Amino acid sequence: MLEPMLRNFTNRRRLVVLVAVLGVVALLLLGRWGNATKVGGQQPAEPFRIAGNFYYVGASDVAAFLITGPQGHVVLDAGYPTTARMIMASIAKLGFDIKDVKVLLNSETHADHAGGLAVLQQASGAELWSSEASADALTSGGDDPDALLPLRALVWLGVIGSYPPPRVDHRFKDGDTIHVGPIALTAHITGGHTRGCTSWSFPVRDGDRVLNVVSACDLGVLATSQYPEQSADRERSIRVLRGLPADIWVTCHARWWGRYRKFVASMTAKNPVDPFIDPEGYRAFLDAAEAELHQGRTH
Ligand SMILES: [Zn+2]
Repeated sequence: MLEPMLRNFTNRRRLVVLVAVLGVVALLLLGRWGNATKVGGQQPAEPFRIAGNFYYVGASDVAAFLITGPQGHVVLDAGYPTTARMIMASIAKLGFDIKDVKVLLNSETHADHAGGLAVLQQASGAELWSSEASADALTSGGDDPDALLPLRALVWLGVIGSYPPPRVDHRFKDGDTIHVGPIALTAHITGGHTRGCTSWSFPVRDGDRVLNVVSACDLGVLATSQYPEQSADRERSIRVLRGLPADIWVTCHARWWGRYRKFVASMTAKNPVDPFIDPEGYRAFLDAAEAELHQGRTH
């Protein structure tokens, strides 16, 4: 009587273990598939000239920018792995050749902005420049050392947040300027969102005026990625960004700087560049970041 019951029990336990193992395998496979195919809710967006040689080539929200020059172009940020295709289509639609892109830059190493770098690098042969603090995360394909351990484990397993690792060709320091012919972009390491988060400033000639552009890195904090010096870094980053002259400003999520609203306004404006000149919007972005910091909010 006892023996068959015991046998039954072990069989049932075996079954439970088997189902659990199969469940985990299925979840992993599903996660990997989701990671490989997901577009993060991104839709293709119409590419357009912002001013002079400065263009938008990103998706509906995750941003990417093209800065063109006679000796080669620069692309800043690459979206998700699957956004890279949209970026390349946008570059072609504007009449430029991906093979003329000589330098790739990145604002921060999370999968929504660095995910497509390897694809863009493969298609262009461009050299990737990175801050010291971002380089390892980039070459590991998205392993953020400050992320919570369970999240890192999911990145290691390729379930979420990982991406094909690009090759980092050069590492820059705070204040370094990267040149491609007449293009000159200055790197400002504005840590906080990630340690190596990089903002960029550069002049753009549009007609007879020169406009100062700032691409500000994300200044918010994720609940899942924190480090001890983070608040001090954010404080400093906001101060650094306040000190940069900005006629035109952008950041890595297009909705934050009003891409669509400004693009629509530019179509009917007397000078299509004017709607992008927005120093007040830049100050409001920094004010909001400062309020978020002082209220201890994450995003
Ligand atoms: Zn991020």
